Amino acid sequence: MATFERRIFLGMGLRVGLGASAVLALAGCESSQEASKLPGPAWPTDRRASQPSRSTAPSTPRPSGLPQNVVARTQWTRAKPIVALADPMGRVTRITIHHEGSTPFYSTAQGDVSRRLESIRAGHVSKGWADIGYHYVIDPSGRVWQGRPTSLQGAHVKDENPGNLGIMVLGNFETQRPTQAQLSTLDQFVASQMRQYGVSVRNVYTHRELRPTACPGRSLQAYMQQTRTSTGRMARA
Ligand SMILES: [Zn+2]
Repeated sequence: MATFERRIFLGMGLRVGLGASAVLALAGCESSQEASKLPGPAWPTDRRASQPSRSTAPSTPRPSGLPQNVVARTQWTRAKPIVALADPMGRVTRITIHHEGSTPFYSTAQGDVSRRLESIRAGHVSKGWADIGYHYVIDPSGRVWQGRPTSLQGAHVKDENPGNLGIMVLGNFETQRPTQAQLSTLDQFVASQMRQYGVSVRNVYTHRELRPTACPGRSLQAYMQQTRTSTGRMARA
């Protein structure tokens, strides 16, 4: 039901001149695009901005600006974002969940995750993007890794990147299932970001709820539908 409502809502505002050639990514999370390449449209984001939902004070950021327990990007790459290719994030009004959608990934070893992230980053940069497209990545052991700095718009949902925090769960959830550690972290971390930015659970999306794509895969999509309900773990975290 929530999905249906969202789609109706989105359909009203988004079909303005852009994205006529929306690519259906059947496997993987590949329909993103740097917004900086586009001619500054008036995003409908503001019209459907979240109501101020929670009055909880923002969590105190670490000196680096990173939330607690997030592995800094310097732990997995020496590269810096190509800032000239990205736009400023602006106010965060929504959060979108992805999977990697490539070959299944099961490792919990930090070195394996580091290499995988670097490979994803290199792939995204080779498309002319500023950096890895996502702001955070959750690995199979439940660690959260910093991706693109949150000061910059991500490149994770084509035409829908402004004010949209991109969180990717590492794996391909068309063909595998997220680990319990991943799901537990996903609920806790997304809830912490909702509090930090004043985003309500109604403005937490999956990629496929915004664009035609298989992302975040059938098993993570099913979990997301359940965890965002009023009795779900994410909504209650
Ligand atoms: Zn995606």
